[in-house]
Order: sequence, then C-alpha cells, then structure tokens
Amino acid sequence: MSTGQAGAPGAAGSLAPGREPPAAMQAAAPGALRPGGRRVGIGLGPGAADLTAPRAASALAACGDLFGYGPYLDRVPARPGQTRHVSDNRAELARARDALALAATGRAVALVSAGDAGVFAMASAVFEAVEAGPAAWRGLEIEVVPGISALLAAAARLGAPLGGDFCALSLSDNLKPWTVVASRLTAAAGAGFVLALYNPRSNARPWQLAAAFDLLRPILPASVPVVFATAISRAEERVEIATLASAGPERADMRTLVLIGTAATRQIARSGAPPWIYTPRRVAP
Ligand code: SAH
Repeated sequence: MSTGQAGAPGAAGSLAPGREPPAAMQAAAPGALRPGGRRVGIGLGPGAADLTAPRAASALAACGDLFGYGPYLDRVPARPGQTRHVSDNRAELARARDALALAATGRAVALVSAGDAGVFAMASAVFEAVEAGPAAWRGLEIEVVPGISALLAAAARLGAPLGGDFCALSLSDNLKPWTVVASRLTAAAGAGFVLALYNPRSNARPWQLAAAFDLLRPILPASVPVVFATAISRAEERVEIATLASAGPERADMRTLVLIGTAATRQIARSGAPPWIYTPRRVAP
C-alpha cells in the first residue's frame, strides 16, 4: 500500500479543535464496515480549477484521505488534517482496494481522477474491486461525483465538434487487445461517428495512434479535420488542427485528446484565430 505521503502540513491525523477523532484511529477488524465509512470517486475536471464541479470540490474538502496519481493530487487544494496517498498511475486496482479498505474502517476517502471519474478512470476500478472484494465493501456508501471530461472541455474549446453523434474510445491496449481497438475504431468511423480518442499515445505506447490513422484513411475523406487538443484548460494548453491526410502521431502525447471529424464536420474560418469546428445537428436522409 503506497500510503503515508502527507500532502499538507500536519496532515497525518491532526484534528481541528472540537472535532471527533476519525474512526480510522480506532482499531477496526479487517473487512468490517464502520458506520459512516464512505468512499467517493471524484472527477477533477480537465485542469483549470474553475472547471472542477462545485460538488467535487466540496466532496474533496469533506474527505480525510485522498488517493490518486501524484499529478492529480497536486491539483487538489491542500487542507490541514487530510492525508494524501500517492500512487503510480498504473496501480489502479491496488489503489482502489486500498481506498475501499480504508473506507471500510469508517474514513471518508476520496479517489481522484482527471476529467470525469467514470470515463476511462478510477470509478470502474472501484467497482471491479467491490465486486471481487469482501462482502462488507458492498455496504459502503459509494458516491461517484461527476467531472468535466476531456472530450467536453476540448470540444468547447473548438466550437461544437460533438454536436452530432459521437463515440469515445481509449486507444490504450493495456487492458484490451489491439484487435478490439482496431475493430471498434473502424466500425465507429464507418458508421459516421465523430471520434474522440483518449490515451492516444505515450512513451510506452508509441505506435498505436499512427496505426489508428492508417486504419481510418481508407474509410474517411482525407479532408476530415483531426484535432490534437493537448492539456486543455491548463497553462500548457495547445490545440493543433490538421486533416486526416496530414495528421502525424508526433503531435500527440499522454495529455492529448484526438478528435476526428466526419465528412459532415464543418470549419468556419476566422481571421487571426483558429477556425471554429462544428458538426451540424441535421443528418441528410
Ligand atoms: N477521466 C479522464 C480521462 C482519463 S484517460 C477524463 O474524463 O477526461 C487520460 C486521457 O484523458 C489522456 O491521455 C488524454 O487523452 C485525456 N485528457 C485528460 N485531461 C486532458 C486535458 N486537459 N486535455 C486533453 N486531454 C486530456
């Protein structure tokens, strides 16, 4: 269990005056559920503090223990009395189990994700752990607080590319075979969905995005817009607009959402600013 990194001064067990000691300070039998124990999956939004939903912010403030990938936890304002449990981005199931085990001792525990907690993120890992875990975990009060997913933040930056039917896919083949990714990609493009590709590229997965473009080129017109939306709403935000003919995978990294339009997706040129990109609502019969 990769716990114990105090994220705020006095984090480990310090109490505000007049507050009851946290239940976790009392001994608890393993797997036993204490009243009030709860765990929440919280989506932080894409990056900017004011794109974190107010409900997510107040849930975070109410939790004594925060679990998550370090860079995500760094986005949560420090509060005295909170303990931060930092873990590697890949150790999702172990992190979910650790958080549930602590919640079962009566603690209010938050598990944070970027964007929305249910979109290619921690909420599924929590329910995988609950389904396979001790029966007592089914009695936990589990709340998933929604967040603004990268696809919504990126689309809003561009105009309205998701105004028609669209499909979100993760290009990661860590948890599913590449043959499944490839068949979903070609089926969705062939059916006319705008595509939002999460996890397009990382150091560990350098070739998948180029392979995806190669699969799409026989299906879609060469002129469809391909947008590389990187670190949206953060200081290092970058938006690059290409076409399927010109798109190169090197424009993406692990902070990028790739949006691929359809033949119906339109661009409105502007002087001195990138074009608006939108997909009309109406589809010809
Ligand atoms: N739960 C997150 C997605 C986690 S998967 C959400 O709902 O947004 C991680 C992927 O999300 C990244 O590889 C990238 O594709 C996308 N992503 C997350 N934050 C982003 C941002 N600010 N800008 C662009 N893409 C982002």
